[in-house]
Formats: sequence, structure tokens, C-alpha cells
Amino acid sequence: MKVTRIAYSTALNPGKYAALVEQARRLGRVRSEVWQRCGSVAGVGSGLRDRQVRDRWLADGTHVQFGVLANAWKETVRDAMADIAANLAAAKVEVRRAVARRINDPVELRRMLTALKADQWAGDPFLARQLRKHWKRGRNHTHDQIVVRADQHNSITDARGRVWLAVPGLVRRKMVKIPLSTTVAPTGTLRLILRRGRVEVHYQIDASQMRSSQRPCGDATIGVDKGYTEALTDSDGDPHGTRLGQMLSSESDRLKERNRRRAKLRSIANTAALRGDHAKAHRIKINNLGTVKRDRQVARHRAQVRTEVFTAVHRVVDKAATVVAEDLTKRFAGRKRLGKNMNRRLAAWTKGVTAEALTNVSERRGSALVHVNAAYTSQTCHRCGRLGRRNGDTFHCTWCGVVWQADVNAAINILQRAGDPDIALHTPHHRVKQILQDRTDRHRTRLPVQDSSPATAERRANHPNRSTTSN
Ligand SMILES: [Zn+2]
Repeated sequence: MKVTRIAYSTALNPGKYAALVEQARRLGRVRSEVWQRCGSVAGVGSGLRDRQVRDRWLADGTHVQFGVLANAWKETVRDAMADIAANLAAAKVEVRRAVARRINDPVELRRMLTALKADQWAGDPFLARQLRKHWKRGRNHTHDQIVVRADQHNSITDARGRVWLAVPGLVRRKMVKIPLSTTVAPTGTLRLILRRGRVEVHYQIDASQMRSSQRPCGDATIGVDKGYTEALTDSDGDPHGTRLGQMLSSESDRLKERNRRRAKLRSIANTAALRGDHAKAHRIKINNLGTVKRDRQVARHRAQVRTEVFTAVHRVVDKAATVVAEDLTKRFAGRKRLGKNMNRRLAAWTKGVTAEALTNVSERRGSALVHVNAAYTSQTCHRCGRLGRRNGDTFHCTWCGVVWQADVNAAINILQRAGDPDIALHTPHHRVKQILQDRTDRHRTRLPVQDSSPATAERRANHPNRSTTSN
């Protein structure tokens, strides 16, 4: 598994930045040329590889006009061809669907799919037409990137521990040295993205090289409940990522306040513009309504949340060989409108990060991740199985007369769902409720619990509404 890392430049000299911007602009023209020549149905149909494009350009002198070093444009050609291939692959998925819909004869269908796969659609009017329809004739939109081959850059660490990355500029043998805000030197092929006066250095590392990937996982089976105050609470009763709630609520407050101030400034600028004071309107727009600082603050907050969540997941995996968690992929997708509520928006985004962290860390450290249906896990007493009421941080079971810590109760229920014979991952919400009620009804009428032989379990799974024969 590959993981993308990003290093950022720090206090980069504006002259160097300008030189990199110029290089990226010229390489953008290289990209445009590649798209122009190869990014069409006919272009890709010609089956050109990036090496052939390079040889052609060298032969006919196309490369001279760009005014960049050889390695730079060659890498860019390779990168642009890869972009085109990805773009085409996405279109082919659509075409395959269209072909499967229209063509009924299995022999003809197979012939077409084979031709599509081999990029041989030129002779087939139907395929060519479909491809033209689904493949929006591509065009290059990238003018701010420089791809640097692995053997074309080097880095040194200065006395203060700062890493300086040296990459080729526009002049041969004159490297541009970029100070980075990291202590780890980037490796492999680099993609420099120039944004708002800063250089982002994107590179990939093998996940197995990461220090945290060497950490062994535990041997227990642990259920986790994803929360807002804490990132995770586990079925042993331990909270993890306890600073999350504070982070999210202070960010939410900050955003609300910021948006309020910006709205006010915007109205002042609009009023000024209406009065004819365009200079003032412009000044406010430039000085007070910019996006550089805003975007940076958002990025910083996101990075902090990610660290908190990933650390929490690592803590759980320290104990667990198997982590049981709620399946988030299908959770009320699209039903809930998040609207303007900042808290809920942040929470939704955080849940996605938690899901990503669980998958990522489990894979790296070799623990298993089991997804379960989490319906009613926060509203059920883990001891007696009765539905109760969750009230903030507590869960009260009137039957047991016990007050549980709500997240711990939910985590234990989630753990138990992993072995539940009746409630499968995709059992609908309402049926889960019925199953839970049937179980407790059995308690109430003091009937013996049905034996758990497979036949009974299966019957119950198939006819959950008939599993109680009392009354
Ligand atoms: Zn109870």
C-alpha cells in the first residue's frame, strides 16, 4: 500500500518561487500539447506510448519551443499521458455499460469489449461513436505543477535540522533550493504543486516503511463506538482521542465568528461599491476578504483532527487483533441534510476520517477490521438487551436500573453484533428493532430462550417477526 505524503516549503524566497511558477507555466504548455495531440479519440487510438511521443518531438524539434530542460518536459509528457490514460479508462467504463445495454448477441458483445480493451475502436463506428460521446475531449488544466524524477533531486539537512530540497530549475546545473517545513527528506518521484506562494511537495512512500506500520497489533477483539467528544470509545471502557470534542467545538465557534465578520465586511464593501467608492470596496476585498489565511487555517485544523483520530485508532489497535466497528458507508446516505450547522458538518467529516483511519491502520498493522450493523447499538442496554433512552453521555436502563456510560455501552453492543446470528450487516433498521424487541419480549414472558441450533437461527433470520410464539 502506498501512502501520499506532502511536505511544504517554508519562508521560500519570492524570486525562487517566481522561477518555479514560470517553469510550471512552460510545462503546462507541454501538457497542453500532449493533450492536443494524444488526448482525442483518434490520438489514443493510435496507441502511442509516452516514449514514442518523446522520440517524435525530439525528431521534429517540437520540444525546443517550450524552453525547459529535457528531463522536465520528458517527465511531463509521461505524466500527461498517464492523465490521459486515466481519463480514457473512466470513459471506457461508461462505454462498456452502454455496449452491454445495447448489444444482445453474446459473440458480438465479446468482440466489442475486446476491441475496446485493446484500444481498437477506430474501425467500429458504434464503438467510436460511443467513445466520442462519453469521452469529453480532454484539455489540459494543469499549469502549476512540476514533476521531478527520482534521480533529479537531492536534499540536505542544515545545521538547524531544516531540510533543503534541490530541484532542477530552468537553467542547466542550477538547482533551485527549497527550504521545507519538515525534517524528513522527500523521496522518489516528486510532484511539486505551486499554490499561493508555497510549494507543496507530493510524494509517495510505501506504507510498510512507516514507523507505525512496524508496531504489532494486540490480540483482543475490541468493539469501538465513534463519537464526537472522543474519537473512539472501546468496549473495555477506554476513551481514545479525547481532545477531539474540544478541537471540533472551538473550530466550529471560530468558523461561525469568522463567517459573521466576513459577511459584515462584505456588506461594507458592497455598500461602498454602490456609493461609487470602488477603491474602498477593492481594498476590503484584497486585504480583508482574502482566502490565503482562511484556507491555511482550515488545512491546519484538518491536519490536527487527523492526527488526533489516527492516534486514537493506533491506541485501539495496540490492544486489538480484531476491531469491530460500525459500517459507515451506507449510513443514511443522502437522507440527512447537513445544512448550515457547522457542528454537524464537522462531525460528518470527522466520521469519514475515522473510517479512513480504521481501514488504513488495520491494513498497515495487520489487525482485522469487522464492520457491523450498528442500528440501535446506542439505544440498547448491553446487559439485558432492552431498548432504553440515551441522554447525552449516559444511557439509562429502567429494567436493570443501571446508568451506563453511553459510548461504552454502545461499544459493547457493537462488539456483540459481530457474533449476532440474526442481525447482519444489511438487515434493515426497522427489522433490527423488531428483532431486539422480540428478544426482550421472550424475557418478559419468561419463556425459555430458543436453542441456538443453526436450523432455529436460520428460521429466525428468515422470519424474524415470527420468532416469538408467546401470547
Ligand atoms: Zn438493562
